[in-house]
Amino acid sequence: MNEYPAYLIDDRKIISLRGNKNPVDPKMPYGWLIEKERTRLGNIEETGIIFLTNRECAFHCLMCDLWKNTTDFTVSAGDIPHQIEWALEQMTSVKHLKLYNSGSFFDIRAIPVEDYALIASLLKNFETVIVESHPKLINEKCLKFRDMLQPELQISMGLETVHPDILSKLNKQMSVKDFGDAVSFLSKNEIASRAFILLKPPGLNESEGILWAEKSIDFAFNSGVECCTVIPVRAGNGAMDFLMSKGEFNPPEIHSLEIVLEYGIELRLGRVFADIWDLGLFSKCERCLDKRTSRLIEMNLTQQIVPEVECECTKHQAPCTKQL
Ligand code: SF4
Ligand SMILES: [Zn+2]
Repeated sequence: MNEYPAYLIDDRKIISLRGNKNPVDPKMPYGWLIEKERTRLGNIEETGIIFLTNRECAFHCLMCDLWKNTTDFTVSAGDIPHQIEWALEQMTSVKHLKLYNSGSFFDIRAIPVEDYALIASLLKNFETVIVESHPKLINEKCLKFRDMLQPELQISMGLETVHPDILSKLNKQMSVKDFGDAVSFLSKNEIASRAFILLKPPGLNESEGILWAEKSIDFAFNSGVECCTVIPVRAGNGAMDFLMSKGEFNPPEIHSLEIVLEYGIELRLGRVFADIWDLGLFSKCERCLDKRTSRLIEMNLTQQIVPEVECECTKHQAPCTKQL
């Protein structure tokens, strides 16, 4: 690993490198979709995702671009339930729901606590509700919300990487112990947790990126998470583009994402998914992009290893992480 970073990337610098936010309406989610996901029981079922509009996350992680669709102020009580109600009218026959709020559901400046009861009542017909949170915001409030909910509550948290130097430089203001403590708290209270894991954050080369994503999956499962999602790191938020221009960051290859997904699935410790959003960013080969995307989707859904895609582009590039 190179000495990284050669530049000071602190909170102020990260914010100064940003572009403009997108216009958003506090009474409307900024997006919604329905995706297929393999459930814990092994069924492939539709899961709705509502991208809630709310106040920007208080943390300013180096790789995060979620601030783009946020407000600068706390939305009014009633706005979040209104957004959910509107989005649910667009979705039919969905049993599972992800409420993603570009930050932490349990950040009281993002989701007003007085809205919890109304939100819970809107969700009563679901089987599972998944929210996201920074590990440091996992506390009694999660239990309060869980107790109001009829569906099972699951909580996704960014572990990002267990590489201690890289994690501290992501400006997440969290240690791996904080993550482990949050998972333990949730497990003790019978709330399933899910981990987001980064593939190739800045400061790692391709092989190191694979190795540390695999180590991070190991740590997440050993801590007690039920599911891991591997996210290839991209540019586009200002800070990452800056690092790319200085040669400190290059996006990972789609082939590396396949390797890490295979590794995670073969552990058989829980579900492991690859984030398949905009995979064209991670491929320089038009001949195999569609095939690799299909392979990743199939492995996500079946949790089985699908035969590799044969293509010239990977003939001379076989990163063997086990030898590092
Ligand atoms: S905690 Fe999550 S939402 Fe907040 S800045 Fe970091 S990655 Fe983005
Ligand atoms: Zn190819």
